[in-house]
Amino acid sequence: MASNILPPALKRVVENLSKLPGIGEKTATRLALFILRSPEDQAKELADSILNLHKSIRLCSICFTFSDQDPCPICSNPKRNKEIVCVVEDPGDLLAMEKAGEFKGRYHVLHGVLSPRDGIGPDELRLSQLKNRIEKEKIKEIIIATSPTVAGEATAAYISKILSDTDVKITRIACGIPMGMDIKYADPVTLKRALEARRPL
Ligand SMILES: [Zn+2]
Repeated sequence: MASNILPPALKRVVENLSKLPGIGEKTATRLALFILRSPEDQAKELADSILNLHKSIRLCSICFTFSDQDPCPICSNPKRNKEIVCVVEDPGDLLAMEKAGEFKGRYHVLHGVLSPRDGIGPDELRLSQLKNRIEKEKIKEIIIATSPTVAGEATAAYISKILSDTDVKITRIACGIPMGMDIKYADPVTLKRALEARRPL
């Protein structure tokens, strides 16, 4: 392997960068060389900002998203509708939802989906806390926005089951044809879901 000829200090950075999602050894080597060529101040700032993450970011005690304040800015915003809670897989999904700017309620961040093989069960996803929130915060609707993957669908079904003894309305985000896509290229499952989620014009 090419990395064997790297000086140990450079190899260490390459190995650590390779652990990041979507970064292979080739990209990691390119990034490590870029950092090495950059001014030392820039490298220091990068290292400091990464170290600071764990020091300053914690989980919001209400919705469990990452935040530097507790409750997070969304949970402490009086303009957000407390009665509607959107359940998302991770903080990245929350950010995507916020970027869309459509949702005015609050969130519940699972930090994963049910995956018995990886040891992720209901306790890891803070589902009992979700149930507690329904009563405490007088939540009227739970929108389940897990991804339309096998694990995401199984998680949505499980949440719906454990909340069936409450009065809360449970909805699932619609899945269908992405904007700009030609219908003939959509897979049959997506087309089926798009038809099921049709709405009046
Ligand atoms: Zn929060």
